[in-house]
Amino acid sequence: MRRTYDVVIVGAGVAGATAGLLFAQRGLSTLVVDKKQNGSHHKALCTHFVQPAARPVLRKLAIERDIERAGGVPTKAAFWTSSGWIWPDGDYAIAGSDGSLLAYNIERRILDPLLTRRLERAAGVTVELAQTVRSPNRLQDGSWMLVLENATGGIREIGGRFLVAADGRTSPVAAALGNELIMKKENQRTCLFGYFENVKAPVENRSLFLLGAQEMAFLYPLGRDRALLAAYVPKTSRIVGDEESKTNALKSIFAQFPDLPDLSSARLASRLYGYSDYPNLARKPVHNGVAYIGDAALSLDPMSGVGCAFAMLMADMLVESVAPTIATQPDRLDAALLEYVARFNKFFPAHASGIAADSIIVKSAATTDSVYRRITRNTYLQRLFIALTGRIIQPEEFQKAYLSIGLAQNRRSA
Ligand SMILES: Cc1cc2nc3c(=O)[nH]c(=O)nc-3n(C[C@H](O)[C@H](O)[C@H](O)COP(=O)(O)OP(=O)(O)OC[C@H]3O[C@@H](n4cnc5c(N)ncnc54)[C@H](O)[C@@H]3O)c2cc1C
Repeated sequence: MRRTYDVVIVGAGVAGATAGLLFAQRGLSTLVVDKKQNGSHHKALCTHFVQPAARPVLRKLAIERDIERAGGVPTKAAFWTSSGWIWPDGDYAIAGSDGSLLAYNIERRILDPLLTRRLERAAGVTVELAQTVRSPNRLQDGSWMLVLENATGGIREIGGRFLVAADGRTSPVAAALGNELIMKKENQRTCLFGYFENVKAPVENRSLFLLGAQEMAFLYPLGRDRALLAAYVPKTSRIVGDEESKTNALKSIFAQFPDLPDLSSARLASRLYGYSDYPNLARKPVHNGVAYIGDAALSLDPMSGVGCAFAMLMADMLVESVAPTIATQPDRLDAALLEYVARFNKFFPAHASGIAADSIIVKSAATTDSVYRRITRNTYLQRLFIALTGRIIQPEEFQKAYLSIGLAQNRRSA
């Protein structure tokens, strides 16, 4: 007999795990399926800066204390620019700060198993690992039948009233069901990163984002003199060679910037990771009755460090929109999905277009220099800039303030 769940989620990454936990909180029977072999598996290609926009979702999951106990470092961004540092005091809040709205540096080797354990313990959730989802099929009553294939090729069927694709950037569910890419925008940089020891944490455990004219270097403190060092460089100057020469090249990018922790004795404590091509991608958040969350819906330039927070926010928006209807008013599901699309469109597209624009290498430094000059000279703009990068505010709010402060500055100097 095929078991049928209220919700079937394909993928137990950040998006799928968050959605699974939130659906279960709403009392829905939820199956989360992932092809990863076991609960200690984690995503390796991620620099895991979790933006503060995710904090309300983490609070709903009551997981912040566990993250910090497991070694997650509360942190806030500071940006070095050609006009000096953007380093405002306090947390990310624009007003009414209680000092807790911070980002997290939490390694995926810690975060992913933590989320999977939570899922496995949550009442109402069934987690099936080492199972690849094949051929999602819609039945006449609108529910779904999926084929699960295990590691030895064994197959069985399961059913779900509602299907969520949280299956990552390549989304096999989207491929099977024809949810084509609606955006593919070039990313002109490549990335190289690794974990280092003997790196003293910056003041206030700040995460440092060093914005060069073309090359960017990021340093994330991870506790106990451990740090992640990442470089985003133009494809034309991609770092190549053996591990030692790549490590030296990575460190030499940091050496271009002032006021940094001493990296001369920093020792590589992992392999090096990176990519050579990573375009910005988007799909429809809802297609033929299936909801898409996380990278399956929107997978942006990793330099922006938004993927995990966006995955959590999408999971939350989806559950808030559809949970009340799934069990009790299935005939209202289409309307509830429209609500998810509306919430999605209110939040993500403006951020996505700004992030995709930043993936293009600016040829003339003059414009960026003048932007940074205005921001670094005004404390309020500094706070707004940090809040924008933390995705606490929309780009429009920053742009309005940037323009009106510019006008005021021009009037004063005239
Ligand atoms: C170099 C790099 C650095 C990054 N740095 C940051 C950062 O600093 N901060 C940040 O927030 N984000 C960062 N990101 C982005 C972030 O890693 C992703 O946005 C996030 O992990 C997406 O989560 P997800 O759950 O949507 O997808 P995934 O983590 O990809 O999870 C998808 C899951 O679906 C499963 N799956 C797929 N197909 C099937 C199938 N057919 N059957 C069963 N299971 C299936 C997979 O096994 C996987 O576990 C970075 C990305 C890169 C590449």
